[in-house]
Amino acid sequence: MVSLAQIISEISYEMQGEKDRGKTASYIPSLAQVDLHHWGMAIVDRDGKMYASGDSHKQFSIQSVSKVFGLSLALDLEGDDLWERVRQEPSGSPFNSIIQLESEHGIPRNPFINAGAIVVSDILVSKYGFQGAQGALLQLLNPLVSNIDGMFIDYELAQEEDETGFRNRALTNYMKNFDNIHNSVDETLGFYFRQCALSMNCQQLAEAGAFLMSAGINPRNGKRVLSTRHTQTTLALMMMCGHYDGSGAFAVRVGLPGKSGVGGGILAIVPGVASIAVWSPGLNEKGNSLLGTKSLERLVQKTGWSVFRY
Ligand code: GLN
Repeated sequence: MVSLAQIISEISYEMQGEKDRGKTASYIPSLAQVDLHHWGMAIVDRDGKMYASGDSHKQFSIQSVSKVFGLSLALDLEGDDLWERVRQEPSGSPFNSIIQLESEHGIPRNPFINAGAIVVSDILVSKYGFQGAQGALLQLLNPLVSNIDGMFIDYELAQEEDETGFRNRALTNYMKNFDNIHNSVDETLGFYFRQCALSMNCQQLAEAGAFLMSAGINPRNGKRVLSTRHTQTTLALMMMCGHYDGSGAFAVRVGLPGKSGVGGGILAIVPGVASIAVWSPGLNEKGNSLLGTKSLERLVQKTGWSVFRY
């Protein structure tokens, strides 16, 4: 059988030859200026062994992939009460869509669109305060990651988001009108932007997601991060909503729960088998990494890792 190390280096080679690399996010300079030629992938298997290739050690802005970690913290705090403030349904709309908030009375469709993630941020700010929420996020991540060098919240990037975040501010104000935001718009949104501005590399991100592969247990120290049931819920939501209005196509092509970010990262989980992080900054028309998706599709073809396998 072909080894995982060989498979990942084959994919790296294939991706180097790709001409169409998508487009970087254009709304802030820190994301727009990233070189489209970057590509990295890292896989942590169930024994904790790391397989990595390309720019897997290079930092990037994980953006909406961070919504998985925010959700884990909030689910652990609130349990099923969380679902009174955010629903569990795919949206079929772009990540920053406002339209469904009107007919659904300020309750976002799921925790992975911006509106839903902002409610999750609000829950964390209520519990920990604005500064404390950032600390809680890093406290979740630090024990999951073996080498935290270069893993930090990029305040300058968060500031750029804040200065241009008119739409996110509109979403937050709109939800506050329905009493679904309990803190000041500035604090809740300020934390949301900082969470999105987490800088990590593929190796760190694959390790950080490994508890989702192992039923909620941190494989590095055997400690529980999230209950098995809440872990399953998170994976179900990643499958249905992790790529916004591209979630259906991702499920068909890749067949794994995954969460994308506008920085070009994707975290994908093979339950019981592997945690995978891939990064290529060029996006497709839905705002998901073009080559990241293609790389995962190739990986699943070569390994048979789809959750729909026979
Ligand atoms: N920070 C981005 C935003 O709020 C995150 C979006 C994304 O990664 N899809 O617009």
